[in-house]
Amino acid sequence: MKIGTTLLTLLFSLCLATAPVAIGAQEGLTFLHCGTILDGAGATMREMTIVVDNDKILRIEKGYLGADAGAEVVDLKQSTVLPGLIDLHVHVEGQSSPGSYLERYTMDPADVALRATLYCRRTLEAGFTTVRDLGGTGVNVSLRNAINNGTITGPRIYTAEKSIASTGGHADPSNGRSRELEFDAGPNAGVINNADEAWKAVRTRYKNGADCIKITATGGVLSVAKDGQGPQFRTEEIAAIVAAAKDYGMHTAAHAHGKEGMERAIRGGITTIEHGTYMDAETMDLMIEHGTIYVPTLLAGAFVAEKAEIPGYFPAVIVPKARAIGPALISTFGEAYRHGVKIAFGTDSGVSAHGENAKEFALMVQAGMKPMEAIMAATSVAAGVLGRGEDLGQIKTGYVADLVAVAGNPLENVRLLESVNFVMKEGVRVK
Ligand SMILES: [Zn+2]
Repeated sequence: MKIGTTLLTLLFSLCLATAPVAIGAQEGLTFLHCGTILDGAGATMREMTIVVDNDKILRIEKGYLGADAGAEVVDLKQSTVLPGLIDLHVHVEGQSSPGSYLERYTMDPADVALRATLYCRRTLEAGFTTVRDLGGTGVNVSLRNAINNGTITGPRIYTAEKSIASTGGHADPSNGRSRELEFDAGPNAGVINNADEAWKAVRTRYKNGADCIKITATGGVLSVAKDGQGPQFRTEEIAAIVAAAKDYGMHTAAHAHGKEGMERAIRGGITTIEHGTYMDAETMDLMIEHGTIYVPTLLAGAFVAEKAEIPGYFPAVIVPKARAIGPALISTFGEAYRHGVKIAFGTDSGVSAHGENAKEFALMVQAGMKPMEAIMAATSVAAGVLGRGEDLGQIKTGYVADLVAVAGNPLENVRLLESVNFVMKEGVRVK
């Protein structure tokens, strides 16, 4: 096998010296002529052809290969081609606005779903072919299914369904209500207060169709509650959630701002720490020791800090949290990066607008990360978090044909990623 492939490669390279090669009329093949390829794993290649067969990358060859009738040729000679981008932290069901706190009382699940079809399309057209949805009401599961079966257009979704919280915690669905409307949410609604309830909450997520588990390990910025930092689980509750999730093949993500809650999550075995605002060098060492991955969501920090200055945009209880946490995130990210914490890309889009996910890249680079590493965080590293390191997030033979292109060189100007001009998902061109 290996010798055959090498011979073929050699043959192609030899023929290329004289004229473009026709590969034979194979129906359904797409030939992408790529000026530059960033493969998502750190390599750069120039003047290459990617041959896509159905939903997979069939071959990657040096030079611009000619194609026979029946095959489509896409000219991306002036572009840089990358793997489809992966955002590990979105909330596809909604988008924050001064009115969003009322929506739970005014919108039915069908309203949420129909509006979210727009968000899904915008996300995909922005080059994000895969997202991890870290918490909604369960409509996110229906959206994933509708995308998978072709009913609507959108990115591949990995969903946590409903986040798991403790009573009064960041993801307690009855927070912020009057006593009359408040209720004692239990494990089915994703609220737990001991290890047994943790198991039930995870099993309920599994039953409802979740792909992964999200917990809110500390308070949060946008919940209608005073405290954004304190721990909201005991370590044994987190360990129970992680153990239950493992039984069902699910990885885990923890929203965390404060140090204590974050460290309990890391010790409990959580896969990714989201936001991580107030981690310090000790926390970073603990993450490295446990192999925990950091998903910074700088865009959410920047967004809420900006909106906090608009009177009335957020409820009053949120404003001081939003002002403080936004800028803190950026400096934490820079420190974590220099400390050697493994970083994967996530934006918390749904706080900021869907389709603007790529704005995160510029923030990462401003804080000190190299553009190539920021791109890897959104491709091969993110795919690894999803357990898809072997077939997603890289431009490599046999990998899923999720591809995007931008005009020019994003290593020189990472903001180019904010305007992708070509998107292919599973071999189908969507832009
Ligand atoms: Zn979030």
